[in-house]
Amino acid sequence: MADAEIIAVGSELLTPDRIDTNSLWLTAQLNELGVEVRRKVVVGDDRELLAAAVCQSLSEVSIVILSGGLGPTEDDITREAVSQALGRPLVFRQDLLDALTGRFERLQRKMADNNRRQTFVIEGAEPLPNGRGTAAGQWFESNGKVVMLLPGPPHELQAMFTGECMPRLRRKLPPQVIRTRFYRVAGMGESDLDQLISPVYKPYANPTTTILAGAGDIQIHLRAHAETEPEANALLDAVGPPIEKLLGDRIYSRNGASLEEVVGEQLRARRATLSVAESCSGGLLGGRITSVRGSSDYFAGGFLVYTDRMKTELLGVTPELLAEHTAVSEECARAMAEGARLRTGSTFAVSVTGEAGPESQTGAPVGTVIIGYAAPGVEPQAKRYLLFGDRNGVRARAAQWALDELRRKLL
Ligand code: ATP
Ligand code: MG
Repeated sequence: MADAEIIAVGSELLTPDRIDTNSLWLTAQLNELGVEVRRKVVVGDDRELLAAAVCQSLSEVSIVILSGGLGPTEDDITREAVSQALGRPLVFRQDLLDALTGRFERLQRKMADNNRRQTFVIEGAEPLPNGRGTAAGQWFESNGKVVMLLPGPPHELQAMFTGECMPRLRRKLPPQVIRTRFYRVAGMGESDLDQLISPVYKPYANPTTTILAGAGDIQIHLRAHAETEPEANALLDAVGPPIEKLLGDRIYSRNGASLEEVVGEQLRARRATLSVAESCSGGLLGGRITSVRGSSDYFAGGFLVYTDRMKTELLGVTPELLAEHTAVSEECARAMAEGARLRTGSTFAVSVTGEAGPESQTGAPVGTVIIGYAAPGVEPQAKRYLLFGDRNGVRARAAQWALDELRRKLL
């Protein structure tokens, strides 16, 4: 199978101010062709280092793509470095000089001597025309390996890769496709999830399965390689549906949508509205809900009630209830949710109260979070959780669990 490495050239890419986005774009294109990127590196404008990087990549993969450093100035060293790495001289091309001269004439500008550097190609390489800039690219092929030199400016690189490199790669590569499936899961820990689904995916090297987890949100990526799309889909079908069956409604999205987007869609579909009452999550829940475009269609508003007094004054949680049960109790969570619902007139309300730590205020263990829920025609409900993490971890998980609770109620 053909694998690739990408080398982004430019000292500016090693500063905090510029990031290498070309490799991300190139990776997406290569994946379309069924090519995996094995490694990518960023190298400053240093000829020796770059030559060494090219040699190493050539020893590892069959496709090496360089971006940047093809300009006319002394610090544009990609041509020289690749020439050194391949042990092939740079040769002058009259056709490139003619094209460059013509370009400057059309723009009615005088060509600088420096630009002559851009008329040299590695011996045996094919120049790739650049419709959007002065730097021609290069395509070099030898012993089953391909090396591409592409300009750094993203619009130049993209046009050249799409117009010149994709067709050449398509002709060269055996037919292969990569197809992926993607699940997002809430309401369970990473190790529980892995224990549950690893018997399904472990026997398969293709598709590969990757699990990414963060603060109560898990992503499962399946990635299949095959010669044709139906074959890739068949490989995915061996793993995807059994995982879906095991996880059931813990899967909240299959298209990458976030939990707050999914909940928003549920509310919209029901033409329902929502309000929130937050204590320990400190506004994170309302923040996530309102991060979604168009959330004003279903979000009425929220209460950030940190002290007992605020819970009483804004939501009507009685001092007696608080004295008897404390603010971290099912009773309080229910009263908060019901208070929010009545005061905003929303269809549903969700509340969050708990101990984010590091010290407990009420005696309940740090990590205790209680999520309340109020809806028309039913008694308010509450559920107690013990979440792990430091203060911010507990707060983030509290918002996540609250959204997931609501999602399940709305299923
Ligand atoms: P030029 O003829 O414009 O000098 P070049 O091939 O020498 O072309 P560079 O000088 O390396 O390209 O880069 C030109 C500009 O392109 C940079 O200032 C930067 O904005 C952008 N660029 C370069 N490399 C990347 C990259 N890997 N990702 C995103 N942008 C990049
Ligand atoms: Mg340059």
